[in-house]
Amino acid sequence: MGLIRAVFDATFRQGGARLKPVGPRWPLLLFHVDTGGCGGCGMELQALATGPYDAQGAGFGFVQSPRAADVLLVTGAVTRSMMPVLEATWQAMPTPKGLICVGNCAVDGGMFTENYAVMGGLDRKVQIDLRIPGCPPSPHDVLEGLFSLFGKRLEENASAGQDEGVGSSSTSS
Ligand code: SF4
Repeated sequence: MGLIRAVFDATFRQGGARLKPVGPRWPLLLFHVDTGGCGGCGMELQALATGPYDAQGAGFGFVQSPRAADVLLVTGAVTRSMMPVLEATWQAMPTPKGLICVGNCAVDGGMFTENYAVMGGLDRKVQIDLRIPGCPPSPHDVLEGLFSLFGKRLEENASAGQDEGVGSSSTSS
């Protein structure tokens, strides 16, 4: 377990230097990985992507490949079998990139405690740019979380008359 976690930490921490959690373009492109939960959080994200929440209009688009993504949305309690998938996904994403945990499971395991099969979420294991708690958080909660992270930069860009997106400077949670 220790070795696995060490590899995981090394991958996500990138030598301790956290990359800026903003994308090189606008809209901000999100990629979702479900690491093992009940699936509820994934369904809420699906509703956000396809339902009447106008995520696209708000500036957040979902993509089908991590190679095109700016931000990784993680749901589920991170089963150990999914950890290599999560690691490979993160490696495939271009930099700068950000990590957001959606739902209690992804944050700290939620109802799933750490055991031989489950990591128990990402909190205190890797650096997370944004935690969106809830079981599950609603699509509106997720949108609010995204705005809390990126909204300030958007407002600054709008007031400065920029139209090229948020990629030119950093945002922190
Ligand atoms: S946080 Fe709740 S809804 Fe989301 S995956 Fe875990 S148990 Fe399911």
